[in-house]
Amino acid sequence: MSEAPVLLVTGGSRGIGASVCRMAGAAGWQVAVNYVSNIAAAEAVVAEIRDAGGSALPVQGDVGSELGLANIFSTIDGTFGRLDGLVNNAGIVATPQRVDEMSAERLERMFAVNVMGSIRCAQEAVRRMSTRHGGRGGSIVNLSSVAAQLGAAGQYVDYAASKGAIESFTIGLAREVAAEGVRVNLVRPGIIDTEIHASGGLPDRARDMASLIPMQRPGTADEVAHSILYLLSDAASYVTGAALNVSGGR
Ligand code: NAP
Repeated sequence: MSEAPVLLVTGGSRGIGASVCRMAGAAGWQVAVNYVSNIAAAEAVVAEIRDAGGSALPVQGDVGSELGLANIFSTIDGTFGRLDGLVNNAGIVATPQRVDEMSAERLERMFAVNVMGSIRCAQEAVRRMSTRHGGRGGSIVNLSSVAAQLGAAGQYVDYAASKGAIESFTIGLAREVAAEGVRVNLVRPGIIDTEIHASGGLPDRARDMASLIPMQRPGTADEVAHSILYLLSDAASYVTGAALNVSGGR
């Protein structure tokens, strides 16, 4: 078994997560590429990493369900036997609605994936990384959004609120495990050109919002991934509890 560090990227099959996986594979991480349903996309990312000489594995699992989480972490334990990094990237939006129109089912799924999924993955990661538990330390990067500060009125306040929860969680967990070799940080992407907008029924959202962004353009998945790779790396060895906007000034 390789001694290279192991990184779990939730939602690593597409968008920002896929960029993180590719860059991490090139940087020498063994990458667990998590996905929920798009196995072809996950396998394509894994193939790209392996073709470039890196090491990667597709790992199926819905982070919003206990069964999915059990599959993710039993695969990591069984295949790699270690975990050194976690990018809590899997996240969903839903179609634009006012808060007074949202169903309880929608709210439950939003919080199950974006909040519970991230917190449960972080718990499992700390149990494996923290020196308190016999681990060798590690780094966790959580994906928030500038929506956490703007609120996303009229579109998805539930999504914005779920990212607000991630922000408080990041501050608290960072302080809790700072003396145990585990760093916890977050990035706040602005409007990034990925398929998440189409999944919320607004395929042109990134392009349509360009004029509202100080830099007058949406960002790319790679531009967010570079910041995540920095926070994961030893170059950020004294950075914990930090939030980095990657938003073109938005
Ligand atoms: P995306 O293009 O829609 O990709 C989502 C990824 O998450 C896919 O790999 C998908 O897997 C996976 N996924 C979805 N639900 C999952 C679940 N329940 N369990 C495990 N994996 C799941 O998303 P993105 O735009 O790259 O966004 C990534 C993160 O950045 C999210 O947390 C998002 O909130 C945040 N963010 C994005 C933007 C933006 O403008 N794009 C802005 C701010 C913040 P499948 O391929 O199997 O479907």
